[in-house]
Amino acid sequence: MKKGQIYTGIVSKVSFPDKGVVVCAEEDENGKTEYEVSVKGVLPGQKVTLRITKKKNKKIEGRLLEVNEKSPLEGSIIRCKHFGACGGCSYLSMPYENQKTLKLSQVKELLSQTVSQDVLQKMEILNGPTEGYRNKMEFTFGDEYKDGPLSLGMHKKNSFYDIVNLADCRIVPKDMNAIRIATLEFMKGIDGITYYNRNNHNGHLRHLVVRRSTFNGQIMVNLVTTSSFTTDFGKKILEDYRDHLMKLQLEGIISGILHTVNDSVADTVAADSIELLYGKDFITERLLGLDFKITPFSFFQTNSKGAEVLYEKVREYAGNINGKAIFDLYSGTGTIAQILSPVAKEVVGVEIVREAVEAAKVNAGLNGITNCRFIADDVLKALDDIEEKPDMIILDPPRDGVNPKALVKILSYGVDDIVYISCKPTSLARDLEIFNENGYSVKEACCVDMFPGTVHVETVVLMSKVNTVKG
Ligand code: SAH
Repeated sequence: MKKGQIYTGIVSKVSFPDKGVVVCAEEDENGKTEYEVSVKGVLPGQKVTLRITKKKNKKIEGRLLEVNEKSPLEGSIIRCKHFGACGGCSYLSMPYENQKTLKLSQVKELLSQTVSQDVLQKMEILNGPTEGYRNKMEFTFGDEYKDGPLSLGMHKKNSFYDIVNLADCRIVPKDMNAIRIATLEFMKGIDGITYYNRNNHNGHLRHLVVRRSTFNGQIMVNLVTTSSFTTDFGKKILEDYRDHLMKLQLEGIISGILHTVNDSVADTVAADSIELLYGKDFITERLLGLDFKITPFSFFQTNSKGAEVLYEKVREYAGNINGKAIFDLYSGTGTIAQILSPVAKEVVGVEIVREAVEAAKVNAGLNGITNCRFIADDVLKALDDIEEKPDMIILDPPRDGVNPKALVKILSYGVDDIVYISCKPTSLARDLEIFNENGYSVKEACCVDMFPGTVHVETVVLMSKVNTVKG
């Protein structure tokens, strides 16, 4: 097998999130030899053609060229016309039950080194709604092919530059599709407007971020451009754009339109400045009977109904917290802290995004909660400053998991129980090794599919202390 050669084989397995293994055979005078080639973006059981891109010792990598035969896990109807081209929903060709089964088996495989067979066998995967579920969508401006017309949607599968025009995305509510189309048509009608080019850093339009409350249909539209829009010409366009949006017939109500200026080179929605074009700069969502104010740059679970399923699990795993002091680390807008607060003695939330912390405080006020305290700081630093000692810790870190140095501090509290919520099971598996080495073992584990159609999955585990700390 050599770099550049083309082979056909069957996908023997797919590990989280989309790391496939394709078994390819080669025949020579000595007989047949089978090789395992790593290929992304495939499904178990598919027959695929690939090109070898890398060969180093025994590790062989390839790039998918074509799916020759579909997987037995795939169905006959694919409910999205963008499937295949769009980089969003790689699992959509499988009926939903098969998506769930695959995700659960991937997480179990990752946890098999650190979680007992007993717990793994009982592990299940829960879900909320499977379509129209997103309360936030970040569309990107670009073109579908080099020098093509302006488009607005998701990155094309495996493409850094090309953007698929998402005429009818299945995982967002109808209102978001309508706002996307209205924005694109409006911008296309203006001479000289271009998308921000990531190569030469020229151009105007970067992202369109739409948030919509599942509870009350409030919609916040945030148009992200470069500073080229801060001229008088840009101002007039923004006023017309606002008026254009306000005329739309939607199921929900636009409660705020924002213009964010972002000149940074990175392809993320960040703000050099934000200006309110209409209404207010937040929406409110209701989860498990509590109200949450969501501001433009705060993290909030993107599937509200799915989040209720997840937080119910967190509440179940937290168990009897009557009279306990709890740390909610990586607390975002304070959702988990507030859900636990009616029974706990007190909850201390720590979150690095100041805006999210301010929202958490307002949220606690809205909900009449007085026993939560929120600290705006890096968990790593905040743990040195907090004087209280927790009886239980909730961890809900970002994708990379818990910073190893912060983990040492978390372990030093020696609490009996820790609930860890993870949006990336590979990071969870890595962190669980450290918890295991320090006397914790997983008592319960469960997946919640917050992202149907896509490769992503949320995992929540309850760990309890069983041994004394080594050393
Ligand atoms: N528990 C919340 C948010 C979880 S997402 C919820 O369920 O809604 C992870 C959060 O961790 C994000 O809000 C992110 O801003 C925050 N974060 C990331 N790195 C951090 C750090 N080093 N210290 C504190 N918070 C951090």
